[in-house]
Amino acid sequence: MAKLESKIPEGEISVKWSKYKSKIKIVAPHNKRKYKILVIGSGLAGSSAAASLAELGYNVHCFCYQDSPRRAHSIAAQGGINAAKNYRNDGDSVFRLFYDTIKGGDFRAREANVYRLAEVSVNIIDQCVAQGVPFAREYGGYLDNRSFGGTQVSRTFYAAGQTGQQLLLGAYQALSRQINMGTVKMYPRTELLDIVVIDGKAKGIITRNLENGKIERHFGHAVVLATGGYGNVFYLSTNAKNSNATAIWRAYKKGACFGNPCFTQIHPTCIPVSGDYQSKLTLMSESLRNDGRVWVPKNKGDNRHPSQIPEEERDYYLERRYPAFGNLVPRDVASRAAKERCDAGYGVGPSKMAVYLDFASAIMRYGRMEANKLKLENPTDAQIKELGKGIVKEKYGNLFEMYEKITNENPYEVPMRIYPAVHYTMGGLWVDYNLMTTIPGLYAIGEANFSDHGANRLGASALMQGLADGYFVLPYTIGDYLADEPTTEISTEQTAFQDAENAVRNKIMQLLSIQGNKTVDEFHRSLGKIMWDYCGMARNKEGLEHALQEVRKLREDFWKDVKVLGKNESFNQSLEKAGRVADFLELGELMIIDALHRNESCGGHFREEYQTPDGEALRDDENYCYVAAWEYAGDNNQPILNKEPLAFEYVKLTQRSYK
Ligand SMILES: Cc1cc2nc3c(=O)[nH]c(=O)nc-3n(C[C@H](O)[C@H](O)[C@H](O)COP(=O)(O)OP(=O)(O)OC[C@H]3O[C@@H](n4cnc5c(N)ncnc54)[C@H](O)[C@@H]3O)c2cc1C
Repeated sequence: MAKLESKIPEGEISVKWSKYKSKIKIVAPHNKRKYKILVIGSGLAGSSAAASLAELGYNVHCFCYQDSPRRAHSIAAQGGINAAKNYRNDGDSVFRLFYDTIKGGDFRAREANVYRLAEVSVNIIDQCVAQGVPFAREYGGYLDNRSFGGTQVSRTFYAAGQTGQQLLLGAYQALSRQINMGTVKMYPRTELLDIVVIDGKAKGIITRNLENGKIERHFGHAVVLATGGYGNVFYLSTNAKNSNATAIWRAYKKGACFGNPCFTQIHPTCIPVSGDYQSKLTLMSESLRNDGRVWVPKNKGDNRHPSQIPEEERDYYLERRYPAFGNLVPRDVASRAAKERCDAGYGVGPSKMAVYLDFASAIMRYGRMEANKLKLENPTDAQIKELGKGIVKEKYGNLFEMYEKITNENPYEVPMRIYPAVHYTMGGLWVDYNLMTTIPGLYAIGEANFSDHGANRLGASALMQGLADGYFVLPYTIGDYLADEPTTEISTEQTAFQDAENAVRNKIMQLLSIQGNKTVDEFHRSLGKIMWDYCGMARNKEGLEHALQEVRKLREDFWKDVKVLGKNESFNQSLEKAGRVADFLELGELMIIDALHRNESCGGHFREEYQTPDGEALRDDENYCYVAAWEYAGDNNQPILNKEPLAFEYVKLTQRSYK
């Protein structure tokens, strides 16, 4: 059984990190270049880590499957990044960000890690500003802030609706500088297919060159997985099409424990599914809930155009149910509330599986403010509306444009139609306070680890965590491990490398040799449907047990009937996808097992059997206040459950309330 040593430092929470940093082992500058660190991933977590480690003097090799590091999925992030700067003077503090995050995650995250995250959040903004990231500014020149769900302050920094893109360009510049100096060697279009473990420690990786199929071995004194989340196990999600679980899944099969695999975030504001042909869903950023009001008609099956439905016949159900947080309740709460209304027959649009996100009152409110500023006397409604639209365009213009392009409806005139969709995975590789997995020398950062978000991530906290891990945590903590490692390199001729390479080759050959009748996408789509129907926004024992059998059957069928086109020795997307879907088919099963064992509801994990009389998640702190860290026990064996108990010293365990 794996030993879960969380390595939480002693001491008062506000000084844990600073004291720890000054005491952990470090590597002397002249020795750093003797250590080779393999960083897999070039999203916000990977780029920031690779650049920072190289800046410190380590010899870094960085891998990604895109043609350029700056095309990583992080570039899609829209709404913003949190930091406890209190620029708005609205009562924010490191403690409040820590508190909001613990509560938002429904008390299933580690206090010490979350406090550290809140603490370093302020440094991230300074770092990014210094890099030239063009955060939105107020008229006076200060950085602007807006609100995201689950908070009552404005602490989200943003760059229009393209925050991820701008942050990634910042990190990419820092990375490029190191690539240019030769301190980072970049391997684009290269996919990790296995981890090499020697004497219980991570010592390298096996990769496939996606252009020509070449399988290669790489030695590293440490390996860092910054490979993102696994939301695409559901087939339809807001994630980039290529985001996948292969790196963390293969690490799991080499002995790294997988933390809370069933904790998935369903984002409330996405463009609804419109047909079977779709392969991707589009997010409408949470920032829109700053100004958009969510509603459905009060009467079931009301088919009138939204403009024909008078105010008194509209149900602003989030404002009604959660007056304190209103439209800005956390994502799990908002998603469930939308599902509840649609399931009860109040949904809108052709599928009736949508609710309105309406900007009409915000447009008029901003318009009146502008008219006042301009000293317009008796402005008409039409004038006010035009002025208001201008302000809304400044704030959310690119998101409105994206919505219109996809739906052919103008959201300045007609409310958006939205519905929840899979967005983020809180589960991931279990890591200790140093961000090291249960395999010594193997680290996981960013969305790839089980992370600081508990059972539900608050909006704008993923970018914060990825950059905290990459810029400010890992560069310190990795030294604690490397300081005791010999600087000598291990030859990649060793048997462990040979065996890992053989296993990779065999799997590829097996996939290519089946030559069945169904495409990889057909299997992926079927898996996604099972996962969404039974292990999605709402789960129950019966459904999960059914899903377990279904996934097992599907996996068996996959290995008999999948058709993978082409050969290994060339650019072959069919083969790439097949390997990833094979892993999703195994991961899906672990997610179901995890969801089945957790007989409580918390955050995004909503077991229908465990809810309060008014339909909120009902935790069972007595029996489930732990991180479930699953350990691989062989292909046909039940995985082993390891538990890391969670202690709450600084935040009281209470029933989460946003009322
Ligand atoms: C549409 C959208 C909008 C979002 N908006 C926000 C927001 O406003 N604020 C916020 O905080 N969060 C947001 N998020 C979440 C956030 O974008 C992600 O959680 C975050 O960017 C993940 O960063 P990462 O560095 O961990 O991984 P990623 O950006 O996913 O990067 C993964 C990297 O790993 C590489 N990789 C993966 N597997 C392999 C392999 N086997 N071999 C080699 N390389 C591999 C990839 O090539 C890539 O470089 C949003 C997410 C989506 C989908």
